[in-house]
Amino acid sequence: MRNPPTRLLLGPGPSPCYPQALDALAQPPVGHMDPYFLRAMDDLSAGLRKLFGTNNELTFAASGTGSAGMEMVLTNLVSPGDRVLVFAHGVFGGRMAELAQRLGGKVKIVSQEWGRPFEQATIISEVEDFRPAVTCLVHAETSTGVLQDLSHIGETIQNAGGLFVLDCVTSLGGLELKLDQWQVDAAFSGSQKCLSCPPGLAPVTFSSRAMAKRRSRMQAISSWYLDVELLSNYWGGDRAYHHTAPVNMVMALLASVEAVLEEGLVECFSRHKRTYHYMREMMGQRKLQFFVENESHRLPMLNTIRVDSKIDEKAHRQRLLEEFGIEVGGGLGPLAGQVWRVGLMGNGARESSVDALFQAWDALRL
Ligand code: PLP
Repeated sequence: MRNPPTRLLLGPGPSPCYPQALDALAQPPVGHMDPYFLRAMDDLSAGLRKLFGTNNELTFAASGTGSAGMEMVLTNLVSPGDRVLVFAHGVFGGRMAELAQRLGGKVKIVSQEWGRPFEQATIISEVEDFRPAVTCLVHAETSTGVLQDLSHIGETIQNAGGLFVLDCVTSLGGLELKLDQWQVDAAFSGSQKCLSCPPGLAPVTFSSRAMAKRRSRMQAISSWYLDVELLSNYWGGDRAYHHTAPVNMVMALLASVEAVLEEGLVECFSRHKRTYHYMREMMGQRKLQFFVENESHRLPMLNTIRVDSKIDEKAHRQRLLEEFGIEVGGGLGPLAGQVWRVGLMGNGARESSVDALFQAWDALRL
């Protein structure tokens, strides 16, 4: 048996797992059609609905990581020739644009300087102007640490006759989501961020409007594995076999979701906020700067810290990992070498994580 090193995962994910999730993984699997497992699937869907803030019947865990969730949502909802409007203020908006292009969508990308969210007024006027079939937005941009406010745009997207797609990979389980109130039609997430489960499942949800569009498509979608219409018959409906569900991962994600619900959503979200405040205090004591200047635009669960351009940040991250067992993330794309991304997600959102990080930070004389 191999023994992986003990790590404190304070990067952009995976995050430190809930012990309940690890216990669930270690159980002997049951069959993917076992009535016990089918009940667990229902419980997981119900729990995910609470976290997403939706009553969408079709809410489940897709097999694969967050990108599989993104691909499932867009593959089912973007038909060739569809006008797709993507707001990109970091890596993951760009990824949705690329995917929509691959699917044959006529994509318009609206960009924003990294480190800032879009003004909702900008989103509204772009939607009114372009009248997209699908509008895509990232709620919590993990590459920059920016939170996107989207409370007032859903109505405009609906009035323009399109669907609203939201990337909730980093926000689900760490921030309050109100997908129904915000009129979001489809959203996806990942198991390894604020849900503190290993990577491998992508919570997804589809509104009845989204499913009506999916069902009205003229041609079959190119992916069989990600076809939500087929999957809806396994997660609900006739319980027809589609693919062998990763049963232990589903049980582990259920354990994580139950851990969040047992703590209470309000308490869980405020723990993330409190941990961010503590992080801010510790950074202030060391005169460290956030990359995201405006406090109200910052994500509590993903902090981007500016690093001194004179230091070899990669070598320091390596030492942090090897000597202290702490993982943090480096900058992506244009932010490479300029920031560290410190994730305080799910079970990792604790003052003790921040203490461990800064003890190591001080020892490394950063
Ligand atoms: N979207 C966002 C905002 C992310 O942070 C990530 C991963 O970090 C993804 C999508 C892709 O998820 P995954 O790496 O689990 O495939």
